[in-house]
Amino acid sequence: MNNTTCTDHPIYLKEGKNNFTNIMCKLCDKYIKHASQYELKVYEQYLMNDEHYHITVKQIIEEAQELKAETFHADPESYIDAFGNNVIWLDVHYRNKEVAKQYKALWEPRIKMWYTYVDHPQAIKLIEWMTQQDIDRVQEHILQQEHMTNIYKDIIDVRRKQLSIKRSEANIKASMNTVKHNNNKA
Ligand SMILES: [Zn+2]
Repeated sequence: MNNTTCTDHPIYLKEGKNNFTNIMCKLCDKYIKHASQYELKVYEQYLMNDEHYHITVKQIIEEAQELKAETFHADPESYIDAFGNNVIWLDVHYRNKEVAKQYKALWEPRIKMWYTYVDHPQAIKLIEWMTQQDIDRVQEHILQQEHMTNIYKDIIDVRRKQLSIKRSEANIKASMNTVKHNNNKA
């Protein structure tokens, strides 16, 4: 991806999948990144003042970093809230940090905590550092995923069967035509 050229281009926001908002380059119409909570806040402030037309990628990233730093000092509650409902804070002892890292735990340097998300594909590997409540959340998420996978498997199974019925019908027709054709010849 050639995102570097877009750093100084103006942006616009676009609703993406899974509740994400995408930052897009207005000039190249290219996807840049998912907007973080802080980037959204910065953009909203510009939007309110009707000054959002020329904000660049670089600007929004930098100002979001500043806002994040300010929030850390001014408002610890919202700093934590900004990680969202899906965050799981992990109780990783210092000596286990390499293993946690290997299992894709994320490091929050300001509060010096490891974390992951309920829907992170590797979350199940991190359960030894979770509370029972968080383990339940992860398992519930996995069950939901499996449930969806099974629904899709069932649908595909039914479609395959329909398709194979159509195919055998077509085969029967084809062989009947061959029989007719041969009879005509005879
Ligand atoms: Zn661009």
